[in-house]
Parts: sequence; C-alpha cells; structure tokens
Amino acid sequence: MNEGAQTGKRFALLDRDGTVVIDKVYLADPAGLEFAPGVVEGLRLMRDAGLRFLMITNQSGVARGYFDEETLARIHRRLCEMLAQEGIDLEAIYYCPHGPTDGCRCRKPQPGLVLDAMANFGFSPEEAVLIGDSEADMGAATATGLTGIRVASPNAGAIAAHDAAPDFLAAARRAVAYFDSRQAKNRSCT
Ligand SMILES: [Mg+2]
Ligand SMILES: [Zn+2]
Repeated sequence: MNEGAQTGKRFALLDRDGTVVIDKVYLADPAGLEFAPGVVEGLRLMRDAGLRFLMITNQSGVARGYFDEETLARIHRRLCEMLAQEGIDLEAIYYCPHGPTDGCRCRKPQPGLVLDAMANFGFSPEEAVLIGDSEADMGAATATGLTGIRVASPNAGAIAAHDAAPDFLAAARRAVAYFDSRQAKNRSCT
C-alpha cells in the first residue's frame, strides 16, 4: 500500500453564518458577505489535507419573506466567487428555506441537508465532519453520525458552547486531526 495514500473520502460540511461568514442576521445583499476570522487560512489548511467542501445552511429569511431564493442564489454565487479567488472550491451549497414552524426535514438540527449531501456525494458519516457555530449544527451532526466541530461566534452562545474552537482556523486544525487519526488507525493493520 502506498504510504502516502489517503484511505476514504474527506469532506467538511460547513455552516454559513457565524462560521464561514460573519453573521449579519438575514443577510439580503451579496455585498455584505465578509469572511469570519481565520476562514481563508482554515479552508486552505483543510484543502491541503485533501478535504472537499460543502455548505449546509438554514435560510429561514426566505420563509419569513426577508429575501427570495433569487437573492439567495446571488449571495451564494458571490460567496463561491470569493472563495474561488482564495483558491477554495466550494462544491455545493445545501440550504433550508423553511421557517422554524414548517416542520420540514431539512432545517438544522433536522438531518435533511446532511443526508442530501451524503447521498449526492457518496460519503459515509465517518468520512465527513460538520463545522458550525450553533447547537442546531451540532444537533444535525449527532442526528447523522458525523463528528461535529463547534466554532465560537458572537451570535451563537459562545459561552454555552463548551469546548468550542476559538476561531475557524482552530476548528480546521481539529478537522484535519480527525482525518489524520482515522487514517493512522486504518493503516495500523496493513
Ligand atoms: Mg451559524
Ligand atoms: Zn427545510
């Protein structure tokens, strides 16, 4: 077996607001997109360790009538462009447009967005981590068997988030460590 070969796939599922971009609360203008601290460095660290990136995001501003899906698509195109300029390929964005009382399957902590990503990209729960700043993110990870990595953010109860990574770069280091430890275990019996 090739000593440097990676075993299995490596995906990072990324929350959007408060994780990848600063939470502007119902952002309705692409010009308001702003990376959170450590995001570019953290994404490059994970990219260089072979991770691929998908986004999973609750966007109840659609259900609430604050912006429509056309606007959301423009915001997400702009976000993908900003990431591409930094050498980062965000391969897909899964979003829930519903509200808290709609009873949908996709609003985190419901598992729908993660399950869709797993089905479309063909990875198992062990082959992905979920990085997010809220209890809902960690709930979606638990519901689908993924390893959740909590990152502190001002808007999502950083105090309550015991063991949260202080910023995105620290969360990214945890993600890489997760996959490296998995690989070490896989290789120990070859
Ligand atoms: Mg968030
Ligand atoms: Zn939904």
